[in-house]
Amino acid sequence: MQCALCGKAKEVNITRPLCGECFLKDYESRIRRLIQREKLITPQDRVLVAVSGGKDSLSCAQVLYTLGYSIAVLHVDVGVAACTNPRTRNVVERFCEERDIPFYFLSFSEYLGVDMDEFFRKARRPRCATCGMLKRYVFNRFARENGFTKLATGHCADDIARYFLKAWVSGSKESFLWLEKLKPLTPSLHPRVVARIRPLFFSLEQENYAYTKFRGIVVAGCTMCSFFLRKDSWTEMLHRIEEVRRDFALAVARTLARQPEKGEANDTFQECRICGEPTNREICAVCRVRERCSPLTPTGRSGRQGGMTQEAR
Ligand code: AMP
Ligand code: ZN
Repeated sequence: MQCALCGKAKEVNITRPLCGECFLKDYESRIRRLIQREKLITPQDRVLVAVSGGKDSLSCAQVLYTLGYSIAVLHVDVGVAACTNPRTRNVVERFCEERDIPFYFLSFSEYLGVDMDEFFRKARRPRCATCGMLKRYVFNRFARENGFTKLATGHCADDIARYFLKAWVSGSKESFLWLEKLKPLTPSLHPRVVARIRPLFFSLEQENYAYTKFRGIVVAGCTMCSFFLRKDSWTEMLHRIEEVRRDFALAVARTLARQPEKGEANDTFQECRICGEPTNREICAVCRVRERCSPLTPTGRSGRQGGMTQEAR
C-alpha cells in the first residue's frame, strides 16, 4: 500500500496510509492549526507541560517543542512505583536535557509532607481516583506558584472518549460538569486556577505512539495505565464500539469541543482554609485526607502546609 499523500511506501495506517515523513507533517500541522484556531497558546503565555514519561505527554511536549513554543516540563513522582520511578524520571529528564527544556521534578510525598501509602489508604477511594485528584491539585498549584499561565497535558481523543463513557455510566453531576469543561482549552475562571490546554485533544493514542516512534523518543510509562496502549475495561469498551463505529473517539472529542461553554465564573469557589487552594468546600479534598495522615517528618516542617521541594535545571 502507498502513502495517501506522496505515493511512497506506507509506514503507518491509523486513519489512512501514510509514510513516516507525511505522518509527521500531518500530525504536527493538525496540532499547529488547533493551537492557532483555539488560541491555546498566545505569545504572552508561559507553558508548563506535565509529562509522565508515557507516549501521550511526551508527544505533547515534543510537538510543542517542534512547533517552536517555549515550554518547561514537570514530572511528578506519584508514589506508586508502577507509575513513576527513577526510570520515568530519567526518561523525562534526558528528553528535556537533549532539547534544552527546563525540567522540574517534585514528589507528591515531599510536596504534601505525608507517606503516600498512608495517603492512598486514608483517601478511601481507588488509587487512580486519588492520584488524579492529587495531580490536578499539584499541577495547578505548582504552575501558578511558578508563574506559568498555561498548563498542558497529554490528554488525547481516546482519553476524552473514556471520560465521556465513564461520565455517562456514573451519571454523577460532577462528571457532567467536568465533561462541560473538557475542551482543547479550559480557561481560568478563578485567579488561583491556571488555564488548561490539551493540544492532543483530536489526536489518537495510536497516533501518539507512532509519533514517538518516528521521532525516536524513548518512552517509559506507567505499566498500569499509560504504557503504550491502555488496557482497562473502558478501553476495551471503546475498542468494541470502534469495531462498528471507527471514528467514535474522534467524534466524541469533536462533539464535546463544540458544546457551548457556559463560561460562568465559578462563584462557589472559595479558598481552602488550610492550604488556600480553590475548592467548593471549606477545606479542599486534598487537605481533608492530609489531615487524617501523620506528617512525614514532624520536626522542621511547617506543620501540615507541606514543604515544597522542586528542582529546576
Ligand atoms: P493520566 O491521569 O495518567 O491519564 O494522565 C493525564 C495527563 O496528566 C498526562 O497526559 C500527563 O500530561 C499528565 N501526567 C500524568 N502523570 C504524570 C506525572 N507523573 N508527572 C507529570 N505529568 C503527569
Ligand atoms: Zn487545601
